[in-house]
Amino acid sequence: MQTLSDTDVRTGAGKPYPGLELWLLAGSQDMYGAEALAQVEAQWREVCAAIDASDSVPVRVIPRAVATSADGILRVCQAANAAPECIGLAVWMHTFSPAKMWIAGLSALRKPLLHLHTQYNERLPWSEIDMDFMNLNQSAHGDREFAYIATRLGVRRKTVVGHWRDPRTLDRIGTWCRAACGWHEAHGLKVARFGDNMRNVAVTDGDKVEAQIRLGISIDGYGVGDLTDAMAAAPASDVEALLEQYDSEYVMAPELQPRGARRASLEDAARIEAGLRSFLSAGGYNAFTDTFEDLHGLTQLPGIAAQRLMADGYGFGGEGDWKTAALVRIFKVMGRGLAGGTSFMEDYTYDLTPGNERVLGSHMLEVCPSIATARPSCEIHPLGIGGREDPVRLVFDAAPGPAVLVAMLDLGDRFRLVANELEVLPIEEELPKLPVARALWRPAPDFFTATEAWLSAGGPHHSVLSCALGLDAVTDLATMAGIELFAIKGDSTLPQLLNELRWNDRSYSQQCR
Ligand code: MN
Repeated sequence: MQTLSDTDVRTGAGKPYPGLELWLLAGSQDMYGAEALAQVEAQWREVCAAIDASDSVPVRVIPRAVATSADGILRVCQAANAAPECIGLAVWMHTFSPAKMWIAGLSALRKPLLHLHTQYNERLPWSEIDMDFMNLNQSAHGDREFAYIATRLGVRRKTVVGHWRDPRTLDRIGTWCRAACGWHEAHGLKVARFGDNMRNVAVTDGDKVEAQIRLGISIDGYGVGDLTDAMAAAPASDVEALLEQYDSEYVMAPELQPRGARRASLEDAARIEAGLRSFLSAGGYNAFTDTFEDLHGLTQLPGIAAQRLMADGYGFGGEGDWKTAALVRIFKVMGRGLAGGTSFMEDYTYDLTPGNERVLGSHMLEVCPSIATARPSCEIHPLGIGGREDPVRLVFDAAPGPAVLVAMLDLGDRFRLVANELEVLPIEEELPKLPVARALWRPAPDFFTATEAWLSAGGPHHSVLSCALGLDAVTDLATMAGIELFAIKGDSTLPQLLNELRWNDRSYSQQCR
């Protein structure tokens, strides 16, 4: 069992997740003798270095051990559980590693597991191949032994098959690492709720205790007075600095510009943002919710503040929706450094023109400018609900391109993730009377199949729109969490989707709670 010293562990500078690591273990056994094991170790280190060097892989990859004994495997799994920097284990049976040795370690492991089924050699050396070569390149054999025991133990994992230099292999490892970083984030994630759920709304509510047990997220309620206290305490210089940022980053409506007629409303909005930032930062909160039904002491519903906090990576959910606030944060973490933004979203209204059916998504105010196709404009307009002064908001269209919509619901006996592949479309019409941020999309495989399936699954109106990630990442996250994923894809058919719902009911309702 060779194990790295701490000084070998690098910091991850230059990767999107500095300080986070994937540990790679090679499985083998002592039977092969020291010379063969030295070759195993040299090849494993080379494989590890190549994966580490890939731009597709967003964390440092640490060659943690060549595993040759049950005790050693258990120690590495326990160390992975205890290491805050470790997002998960990747294992590759370089040679044959009798799998009874893995029972104790895999039974103890609480971090995500990636089974990397690769082989040092890419091509068969037909004219030179002998039994020594066969014995050194036998993951086809050893990984089947490992997969058997992992399956028998019921260990959730992702299996990636492919040569370690193949970009497709590296991309799949990288996607899994992003999901593991999201899962890692969930376990420290704190959501602050200003006010409770919007009264009488069902889908945004749910079991917060179960969410902490299943997903690690903790959700803390506050009175909106705690926020107004933080706003009052925010230094004038903070508010002034935010106003300067607004003036420089956005196309400002004339009435909001310095000396504009409604500049005072922009100052109110900036004070809300300053208060939110100091409150969330002081409490270690990376996500939050508010509700227009509880705005005591606020002059306007937080609009631009929620939008800009999302752009900085905070999760947000409207109307007390803590599930979506947490998901927005987790998907922002998962998409870090990739092209394409991530936003809180809501299915709002349809264009049902025959043959060109589309969804117009938006919210009252709170859509993240990370998905904007152009520089947002900063505007102030009336809002019919909330009973406060006109809120300041950023107005823009979402950038066209592929995306995925993800939502979580509480079915009473379990959480279900619902996801839908879609294409965000350019908005070619003017929308002079709709001064909010908006996204227009066509869900896959088509509007009718996707919408009928989403409704059949009880899918919510609030969701995360990720223009950075695809369904693979969502699937990996659901596997790590052990929660149901109902995925509506480009090749889905409605009968098959409805069958999946029936099968999932049988499969998941017996597993949870
Ligand atoms: Mn809403």
